Amino acid sequence: MLSGYLILKNIRTTQRLLRNFSSDTKFFKVEVVSSNRKTPLQPQRKSIAPRFEKKTRQKISDYLKQMATPEIEAQLAPLRAAVKEYGDLIRDLKAKQAPKIDIDKAVVELKARKKLLEETEIALAPKEASFDRLKLEDLLKRRFFYDQSFAIYGGVTGLYDFGPMGCALKANMLQQWRKHFILEEGMLEVDCTSLTPEPVLKASGHVDRFADWMVKDTKNGECFRADHLIKNSIEKLMNDKKVSAEVKKDGEDVLARLEGFDDKDMHEVITRFKFKSPITGNDLTEPIAFNLMFPTQIGPTGDFKAFLRPETAQGIFVNFKRLLEFNQGKLPFAAAQIGLGFRNEISPRQGLIRVREFTMCEIEHFVDPEDKRFPKFAKVADEKLVLFSACNQLDGAPAREVAIGEAVANKTVANETLGYYMARCHQFLMKVGIDGRRLRFRQHLSNEMAHYAQDCWDAEILTSYGWIECVGNADRACYDLQQHYKATNVKLVAEKKLPEPVDVDIVEAQANMALLGKKYKKEAKKIQTALQQLTSEQVTAIEQELLAKKLYNLDINGEKFELAPDLVNIKKYSKKIHVQEITPSVIEPSYGIGRIMYALLEHSFRQREGDEQRTFLAFKPLVAPIKCSILPISANDTLVPVMDAVKEELSHYELSYKVDDSSGTIGRRYARTDEIGIPFGITVDFESGKTTPYTVTIRHAETMSQIRLEVSELGRLISDLNIRLFDSVNPRYAQQLLEIEMFTFCSLDIVDEKATKASEMFLGQLYNDQKWRSFGFVTNTGVRMILVLDATSAASLKDQEIRLIFKRFHGHYCNTISNPFYEIGTPMQSKWLDEGIRDLYSTSD
Ligand code: AMP
Repeated sequence: MLSGYLILKNIRTTQRLLRNFSSDTKFFKVEVVSSNRKTPLQPQRKSIAPRFEKKTRQKISDYLKQMATPEIEAQLAPLRAAVKEYGDLIRDLKAKQAPKIDIDKAVVELKARKKLLEETEIALAPKEASFDRLKLEDLLKRRFFYDQSFAIYGGVTGLYDFGPMGCALKANMLQQWRKHFILEEGMLEVDCTSLTPEPVLKASGHVDRFADWMVKDTKNGECFRADHLIKNSIEKLMNDKKVSAEVKKDGEDVLARLEGFDDKDMHEVITRFKFKSPITGNDLTEPIAFNLMFPTQIGPTGDFKAFLRPETAQGIFVNFKRLLEFNQGKLPFAAAQIGLGFRNEISPRQGLIRVREFTMCEIEHFVDPEDKRFPKFAKVADEKLVLFSACNQLDGAPAREVAIGEAVANKTVANETLGYYMARCHQFLMKVGIDGRRLRFRQHLSNEMAHYAQDCWDAEILTSYGWIECVGNADRACYDLQQHYKATNVKLVAEKKLPEPVDVDIVEAQANMALLGKKYKKEAKKIQTALQQLTSEQVTAIEQELLAKKLYNLDINGEKFELAPDLVNIKKYSKKIHVQEITPSVIEPSYGIGRIMYALLEHSFRQREGDEQRTFLAFKPLVAPIKCSILPISANDTLVPVMDAVKEELSHYELSYKVDDSSGTIGRRYARTDEIGIPFGITVDFESGKTTPYTVTIRHAETMSQIRLEVSELGRLISDLNIRLFDSVNPRYAQQLLEIEMFTFCSLDIVDEKATKASEMFLGQLYNDQKWRSFGFVTNTGVRMILVLDATSAASLKDQEIRLIFKRFHGHYCNTISNPFYEIGTPMQSKWLDEGIRDLYSTSD
């Protein structure tokens, strides 16, 4: 048996020593000489830095890395080739200007192959890469992050209420969004109404085109989203043993192609497979287009038709003129809006991912269509993003990490402004805590994009539901402003100064309102507006037709109006102009906060290694619902003044906190606060109030690393920790961590009763379990954790168990000390120990 007392000055020696300990070493106490003593410990920051940076990572996070292994790539190769075959075919068809129907057919097949490739990629991810969604859902429900709305009335699908935790998390994300975009980019924020008159949404195209295919139960009228019904019915078939392999194969084929199906395709499948209502077994109607907007009316008459807005963007477009004026008429500028969007999804599922009411953050960046450079682009040009370009998708190639500067230079991304917003989007998502390895930007294929859009990249995040579109970044050209101009005849243009004044020939068509009014009554105004909006070329064409045929048929959105020459005057004149009127292009980043929040919850969800029942949320402090917990070690009155000082300090820095003074071991209370994602636990212990200034310990939930500090340092430290780690905030804290880390080595020792007795000088018992006890050992210079095992339990524990216990206490550093565990039970190498002691004493001299 060996007992000893060492004064350590040299970290490497300590590490060597401890590596050489064995089970024969019964008691070994180590004291670290701290910075305010005569012989300061010099932290070797360089050599230890990687340890502190190395975070405990969820296995799922390794997904993308693992994907790249040659074995997996070999399995994916034929699927990639199959996609490429159709990608090449589509390019070829387009080059030959083949009929649209042929291209569309090829696109359907391409999508089917792409889907198979993506599903195989996810399926090939290692088993550990999966995560337990049920456990996460249980936690979210139990700790009221969010839950179904109106639950006591049976709940409504697609509607969720956020509880205190979800509410605070969402508020913090929105606060970061506002700071990241509105504040840092000097955007103009607006807050427009959700109630939107019908003509606005008619002009934007939502009234006519914002729809999904729906089928109804022919008897009771129950509705189902057609593609979802087909998918679910086929999945049921697949699990039915009585169904033949041939039918299953057919079903598989349909599933792969479903995304590209129109109403006729879906009807054909429903009829061929004889699908019925899953609830009643009744027949189903043919698919009909169901508009996803919630209709309503404004005022009591019922005549003023309106909708709840399906997006916030239109509010910005209709205020364009005022915003431009506010910006002194200058382009480019961006406006932003945070608010609710409403979509009457036919059969919403997948929790927060598809809901009927959700918070959106949208930006409309107005820019000269001829010049989409971005002044600050150089700042982000080197930033690397994982881009899944349309070209890679057609080739069956994986997404690639590319510097955004390079992607814009080689035209993969259409222009600097779009590229800039993609980079800022990437920064934002990383800042709030999305795992960068589960984030990609996928470019829309040309058939996915609206006809007017020039380029579009969705930020997709990998969750247990697959890759989910969370942010759309689109260059929408001039479409929206032009549409509202057409509908209102209010010019939504900006003026661009010409280098020199120029003379231009103007050709205008003026309505003869007296005669028009007689003939078309109320419609006359509409005709006048349409004539005013014609281009010079269009007016010239009308003039020629009137001359030739004495009649012109004016088409206004499908309505025809006969115009005789006396109803229209063609005016021609010349004008000197100094400015050119341009309709700005719009770059639109559109964020769905609920989806990002859900992805964040998945990415932050952890299970403590070795104790899978202990789940917690490792939020970035920046967005954590509550920043700190305050945990008094006992209900003793002596702790009250320290508690009060801590609360005052935190309030001064506007840091939210939760006091947990419930009974139960400190370990259990840590577990409770870890579960709701509180990143910092402030423990008030008996040492705290013994001397002034008061001191407390602060524990980082994810890494479980702790330091001790004065209460007056708390506010500043936690504010700093929002973005950095203990060791990078203040060298003194780094040193404490270093000391603690050294003690984690010490805690490998198996101690006897003497050690247990010695522990009476320790602060108090932190854990009390059948097998082990842990004590916080406090000095004026810092808290030291030590794991104390009584001899009997120590003897009965296997290496692996000790390892697990250890991990539970010191998860973050565990990787760095895993080797010594293996050495427990091997014969003691006293030679090394002696050498080490000699070494130490000689250095301390
Ligand atoms: P979109 O206008 O369809 O491109 O949607 C913009 C963003 O809103 C998407 O990127 C999603 O993050 C979010 N979003 C769209 N539909 C829903 C929905 N039903 N539930 C939750 N979020 C949605």
